[in-house]
Amino acid sequence: MLASHNKAKLVELRRTFQAAGSDVQVLALADVAVYPPPAETGSSFVENALIKARTAAARTGLPALADDSGIQVDALNKMPGIRSARWSGPAATDAANLQLLLDQTFDLSEERSTARFVCAMAFVDSDGTEITETATMEGHIIHQARGDNGFGYDPMFVPGEQDGDLTSAEMSSAAKDAISHRGKAVRAIVPAILGHLEARDRAEAEEG
Ligand code: IMP
Repeated sequence: MLASHNKAKLVELRRTFQAAGSDVQVLALADVAVYPPPAETGSSFVENALIKARTAAARTGLPALADDSGIQVDALNKMPGIRSARWSGPAATDAANLQLLLDQTFDLSEERSTARFVCAMAFVDSDGTEITETATMEGHIIHQARGDNGFGYDPMFVPGEQDGDLTSAEMSSAAKDAISHRGKAVRAIVPAILGHLEARDRAEAEEG
């Protein structure tokens, strides 16, 4: 089960399990349980992803997968980082967060504009198993937002792993998935989860 209310993440996750040849059914959190989201009190992406996955596993009794992600700007000491979603305050929106980061970096030279998206994925099962994977998409930020695809800080981020200089909001979702922090982290964790579930099923079958 995916401990997230984000439909796009669910679709991507289902695609990745299918591509790995798995028939695991991925459920949306909203379809199995309703509870207030836990406070993200960790000091890293992994800790926050684990908080969300542990809470979801405890609340639902199902194996749970959660993610935590954000953007790190090197010249801002890697901020917004784990505060990316709430960067502009308690009433933060994607548009307000984007504008604030544009304002804070308006005079950064190109050499000092290096940045990356980071995604940590955490899987927690009721037998105590915890699996985590972290991945990044390196690139740089720009001063003028461009593009309508994507979300969050995509319009001001130019990934390095491409031939041109499109922002991640100008790329197709398939092109972004192929190089994105989330795409890489999901593709890395899915085989590990399948390995765990198969071993668990085998052990249960042996126990009879
Ligand atoms: P989360 O959903 O709590 O992990 O929040 C992640 C925040 O980081 C989002 O609100 C976005 O602002 C930002 N973010 C994470 N991944 C991306 C991405 O792929 N594109 C743009 N913004 C992202």
